Amino acid sequence: MSACRHNFGKASAAALADGESRAILDKAILQIHALRQRSVDAMPDFTDRRARAVAVRQATLDRLPDLLETLEASVTAAGGIVHFAEDASQASRLITDLLTARGVRLAVKSKSMVSEEIGLNEALAAAGIEAVETDLGEYIIQLMGQKPSHILAPALHVSKEQVSALFAEKFGRTSTDIPEMTRIARDSLRAKFLAADAGITGANIVVAETGTVMVLENEGNIRLTGSCPPIHVALMTLEKVVGSLAEAAAVLDILPPSATGQTLPVHLSLFTGARRDGERDGPREMHLVILDNGRSELLADPILRPILKCIRCGACLNVCPVYQSVGGHAYGSVYPGPMGSILSSVLKDAAGDARQPFACTHCGACAEACPAGIDHPVLLQELRRRQAEQGTDTATKSYAALARHPLLFGAAAAWARTVDPRLDRVAAMAPDGPVGKFLRGRKFPGLSKPFSRRFKAMAKRLSRAQAKGGRS
Ligand code: SF4
Repeated sequence: MSACRHNFGKASAAALADGESRAILDKAILQIHALRQRSVDAMPDFTDRRARAVAVRQATLDRLPDLLETLEASVTAAGGIVHFAEDASQASRLITDLLTARGVRLAVKSKSMVSEEIGLNEALAAAGIEAVETDLGEYIIQLMGQKPSHILAPALHVSKEQVSALFAEKFGRTSTDIPEMTRIARDSLRAKFLAADAGITGANIVVAETGTVMVLENEGNIRLTGSCPPIHVALMTLEKVVGSLAEAAAVLDILPPSATGQTLPVHLSLFTGARRDGERDGPREMHLVILDNGRSELLADPILRPILKCIRCGACLNVCPVYQSVGGHAYGSVYPGPMGSILSSVLKDAAGDARQPFACTHCGACAEACPAGIDHPVLLQELRRRQAEQGTDTATKSYAALARHPLLFGAAAAWARTVDPRLDRVAAMAPDGPVGKFLRGRKFPGLSKPFSRRFKAMAKRLSRAQAKGGRS
């Protein structure tokens, strides 16, 4: 499990206290969720579509090594070059070296959570390469110097007014009219597309049989990123592969409805290799970087493995009461919400807090919404169990030890009952450290009436009532 480098509890408390951000988030999530629901309701065969897509995702996991071999051969045959990267730093170094060796100074990028996972923008900047995000939401976030708060809608937490103020500051043009604001961003980005030496895209689905990288979008920026500059680097994680175009179609059947509520996105781009002889456009060089970063270990894990079926639709985030309350930034990792709490706990180099699984309320809304058939609560429960086994929490370990000795536990419970009315005050005054954290992180149940005593009293009342011939 990843090391704890972020305090989810503190970040969540800060997010909950930020009324303005919560209001923006509430509104945005309600909208995105309503779109999904309307789209799913309009598809009487959604359950069948989902079953087909789940079967495809399962088949991918069952034959992943073979599919990756086929993919490598297909991409090579189409004139592309395949690179395998074991972890995040190897992947970002590989791409940075590749672009540096070709004299790239400016790279345009499409939205890619994998590039966030490997810290690509930071690595490129350190190598003197300017990387410009071209997805509108991602561009806004980049200009704000922030990280995405949602895997699908990176600027979900930002209001129209905040974007207007940002554009006024950066471009000197003021408007709160959305089409006009889009024009302002487009004017700035067009010049970047034309000047870029390389384009970096993510990949929604990659077809082993043909070596085709499929990406879905609504703005046209990915199409330009992958075809305008002379070099195209596509970045995928190894589980994104499927066997054939027919299998890709099965995933496409459920991805846009679950993500944005669309039957299909406005643009569906298929990139296969580099420009062939006689072709007039397309990149002269095409590289496909396949990232592992802990996923092979996940594949070998019989319980957590289903998270690799995830198609990054974001539906589980939109229905999760924890994500809805605290937003994506509180997670401190690239992947927030239910899927993120699982993925971030096992990925190498993940920046999140390994205790995120403990925030789950086990309401099950994520599993119900997930088109890939992932049962998140079961996986989160397993992560909790593993952490409890590792025994990282001293207070929980002490409690467990106490609970194993009935006499000691009884004495401690008797003491707790005497201080019960003052327990909240005791918790508030406890010094920082494991005990303080344990006390403050819990809502204490009423301890003044132990169940054994209540049971005895109840039994007495019952026998008295029976003696009188009455009903209990
Ligand atoms: S876990 Fe399921 S619902 Fe969540 S993003 Fe992945 S596919 Fe979508």
